Amino acid sequence: MNLRHLEMRLERLEGFGRPTARLEQYQTPAPVAARLLHHAAMQGAIEGRRVCDLGCGTGVLACGAALLGASAVTGVEIDPAAIDAARRNAQMLGVSVEFLVADVRSPSVDWARLACDTVVMNPPFGAQKAHADRPFIDRALELAGVVYGIFNEGSTPFVAAYTEGRAAIDEVIRCAFPLRRTFAHHRKERVDITVEVIRLRRI
Ligand code: SAH
Repeated sequence: MNLRHLEMRLERLEGFGRPTARLEQYQTPAPVAARLLHHAAMQGAIEGRRVCDLGCGTGVLACGAALLGASAVTGVEIDPAAIDAARRNAQMLGVSVEFLVADVRSPSVDWARLACDTVVMNPPFGAQKAHADRPFIDRALELAGVVYGIFNEGSTPFVAAYTEGRAAIDEVIRCAFPLRRTFAHHRKERVDITVEVIRLRRI
């Protein structure tokens, strides 16, 4: 499936009905999700691989990975309403994804069962709660050898310092991320921010 085709399929997915600011629920726009997944697929990290999406929200990355031929996909998300939407999205696309309602920080989940080849994620950026992305990075590196994560512009030095001795940053791709007005504290209808897609490799 080419990039444009993937993007068109993901464009049709249902988003957050009533997004929660505290959880930083911003759906990854289809062009950004498609680009990340297509790029990862070119690097051999998706097709025939076990993929996990942490903080999967309404499942755009998880469903896209399944469309690109991942052998098994799991989406983990704290918000049950988002998981309901993610399940509808997977069904609409005709793909099979296991969705799990769980907090990535939870010690009571059998994380070993979710060990996989690749993690894809768009975690909270930490705008509402500082360092909210750290438990995601920790869990991702526990589960997989390769991680593609979407972070705020300028995060790379912090991610590098935080993962020092555990992972190497192989690649950083800067990407425009159109943010539609989502929460009451947003003043403009749309702002374009820049994000960094960071590829981490466990060492
Ligand atoms: N990955 C989705 C959603 C991104 S928004 C997408 O790309 O569209 C970040 C998501 O992380 C939200 O859905 C939010 O509910 C979820 N989240 C926030 N804290 C979490 C936690 N501790 N454990 C699991 N999910 C969490």
